[in-house]
Amino acid sequence: MKALCIYLLICFCLTNVGNARQEKISVLVITGGHGFDRPAFFEMMDALRNIEYKELAQPEANAYFLNPEGYDVILFYDMVQEISEAEKAGFEQLVKDGIGLVFLHHAIVSYQDWDFYRDVLGGRYIENEDSTQMQSNYQHDVHYDARIADKDHPISLAIEDFEIFDEIYGQVFISPDVNVLISSSHSESMEHLMWSREVNPKTRSVYLQPGHGPGIFADSRYRNLLKNSILWAAFRR
Ligand SMILES: [Zn+2]
Repeated sequence: MKALCIYLLICFCLTNVGNARQEKISVLVITGGHGFDRPAFFEMMDALRNIEYKELAQPEANAYFLNPEGYDVILFYDMVQEISEAEKAGFEQLVKDGIGLVFLHHAIVSYQDWDFYRDVLGGRYIENEDSTQMQSNYQHDVHYDARIADKDHPISLAIEDFEIFDEIYGQVFISPDVNVLISSSHSESMEHLMWSREVNPKTRSVYLQPGHGPGIFADSRYRNLLKNSILWAAFRR
């Protein structure tokens, strides 16, 4: 009888370990404020294994931060400036409590006047109306190189340097304390294309510059970087 009980206990434990491993990471994808190739983007999202997602579009999406529940990771692929003070407070509390954050491409242009967002993301594409001030810029359809700067990081581990055909950004502010994962030697591109941050012990964030699409969305190395970013932000890597 005792042996049977031990056997059943072991079976129960193994089953639960298996379930925990297979549990999918839930991702909230925030879009809106900027056009993108929806079929190509969501074909990529559908191909990411062990990840389930839901899309919320701006301007309504920010209301999520008034009662943020139910997701392991938020993937920002929006570009907006409007957010209420209550929604800002909700996001700031969420970051304090712990959440995974992945910012793609034009999400670095959002919230020019909200420094908390810039600091969590680790940079800002600067839009200045005053032409004498620093101003970021962009250029479509550029071939540029992605050089892995941190070969030991769980996100960029086992990914080789590769060529990108996408949109570049130039003259972008990057916080000096980010952990650089990918750089580029293209003279007109921002120097670093991808970085990670440990915002606090419970919140990790990642920024990935390429992502205008649609070609880059089909690239297996890009897909791996995105998947690894989501896993790492969710403390699964
Ligand atoms: Zn773009």
